[in-house]
Amino acid sequence: MGGLADQRPAAPVVIRSRHPAPCSLTFAARPAGPLRILCLGAHADDIEIGCGGTILALLAARRNVDCHWIVFSGGGGPREREARRSAGLFLARARRRQIVVHSFRDGFFPYLGGGIKEAFEDLAREVSPDIVFTHTREDRHQDHRVVSDLTWNTFRSHLILEYEVPKYDGDLGVPNFFVPLRAAVARAKIRHLHAAFGSQRSKRWFTPDTFHALLRLRGIESAAPDGLAEAFYARKATIAF
Ligand SMILES: [Zn+2]
Repeated sequence: MGGLADQRPAAPVVIRSRHPAPCSLTFAARPAGPLRILCLGAHADDIEIGCGGTILALLAARRNVDCHWIVFSGGGGPREREARRSAGLFLARARRRQIVVHSFRDGFFPYLGGGIKEAFEDLAREVSPDIVFTHTREDRHQDHRVVSDLTWNTFRSHLILEYEVPKYDGDLGVPNFFVPLRAAVARAKIRHLHAAFGSQRSKRWFTPDTFHALLRLRGIESAAPDGLAEAFYARKATIAF
């Protein structure tokens, strides 16, 4: 039986590129080719809320990035226009970007599993990303959970970072992986969200202070220089020396 020391959570791991940190990881430049990232979201705005600042920071730091950006609902309607506009804002500096907006029915993902699974299988044939951003496993929204589970089913030798989405359900947890953000990046994230998603502005939670509050809390937890960060769950990671 272990003592108290054995029960302490592991120290959080922080990715940052410009500032010294007690515990920091960076991605080495790939010997050839760009960094490939895959962003997965059940609904238009999920990716941006969960990891929009990280995407902006990554693209500001590295020019050679290819991005697949997949939204699983809203295709064919006004939400698709919003999703595409937003992806254009967040991915403006990407070397290449491929944006797909599927039209699976919002709220019904657990009952549409076959079609969504096939979409994931198609994706696996198309891209082998260096980083996958997806919903977190413990998310209480049924659509979010389906996307998270299928991400792990499909991408088995990839770094998966699960992002969080604040909501009524009250399912925020204790993330273990942080990306500190400069204040200007955080402001750009919030500005882009409000510019792109006009249909959400009437929702009482879709406000700048919601997004800033979570960035601020995660910034405290990761001792971010500007006091702001996005947080993720990294359930598995390997390291090469
Ligand atoms: Zn969502």
